[in-house]
Amino acid sequence: METLILKGKPVSSKIKEDLSVRISVLKSKDIIPSLAAIIVGNNPASKLYVSSKAKTFAKLGCYSEVFELESNIDKDALINFIQNLNKNKKFHGILLQLPLPKHLDEKEILQIIIPEKDVDGFHPVNQGYIMQGNPKFIPCTPLGCLKILDYYNINVEGKDVVVIGRSNIVGKPISSLLSQNFSYGNATVTLCHTRTKDLSLYTKKADIIIAAVGVPNLVNRDMIKKGAHIIDVGINRIEDNSREKGYRVVGDVNFNDVLGKAASITPVPGGVGVMTVTMLLSNTVEATFNQTKEE
Ligand code: NAD
Repeated sequence: METLILKGKPVSSKIKEDLSVRISVLKSKDIIPSLAAIIVGNNPASKLYVSSKAKTFAKLGCYSEVFELESNIDKDALINFIQNLNKNKKFHGILLQLPLPKHLDEKEILQIIIPEKDVDGFHPVNQGYIMQGNPKFIPCTPLGCLKILDYYNINVEGKDVVVIGRSNIVGKPISSLLSQNFSYGNATVTLCHTRTKDLSLYTKKADIIIAAVGVPNLVNRDMIKKGAHIIDVGINRIEDNSREKGYRVVGDVNFNDVLGKAASITPVPGGVGVMTVTMLLSNTVEATFNQTKEE
């Protein structure tokens, strides 16, 4: 069986094309979708993520501003900073880059961003809307996975889906979305995690596997059914001295191993990761429309 490679780029390009039309409607009213991105501390990976987000915004003629705050900022000062952004009409979306330094409670701080500007979809109100089957802002990575499934016509209705990983930002929202009565739902979803006794028992039966774990090459050929579709969310660095950087990036699924047995798979890099930033832009454009309806 030839395995179809589910590249993120064509999906992302199509979405950006549609978004650019929506952005020009806003621009004709002198409105520019604008994002405030907050980084606390000096995490180089966070800086890299935020700069790639900023580049995507700039390419589509949208605005983003990065606020770099000291790693020892106290909780009240950070809350105050976010509350000012909540009130600032210049920004339609607010993103708090995770992880935060250890003295700050992520769940507590994320609740400060008002749901209307929560373009990452991490606020409990937005997560609650997902649970109710009435999503407003869907977190960018699960939304990107849905768009990939849709673009490549992988129908999920009635399928057995195994999601590996139960984080609030990927595993839980995607499992909730796929199980609901939507056009992109109606699957029978099993959510696996660290306490799952025999992971392969579930993955072997799955029509679709969504791996969001953070363990390199966890899923191999023996663990999948012939003809399974695989969405690999994992981004893991493994040592590779043949590369200039000394490492390479791999997913949670052993890509080469499953080729020929899986019906399709997203590559890492070049799959889901490409989609995440595009969906942030999409959510920000949506937020801008919602906040400027009367203008
Ligand atoms: P997380 O650490 O918050 O959650 C990982 C989950 O995996 C946990 O719920 C845990 O129960 C489960 N898990 C860990 N080891 C397991 C095992 N051996 N068997 C079964 N379950 C296991 O991670 P996250 O934030 O959801 O991210 C998961 C992966 O996805 C990471 O590699 C991350 O870098 C990547 N990620 C990629 C994107 C993207 O844009 N492509 C976005 C977010 C996260």
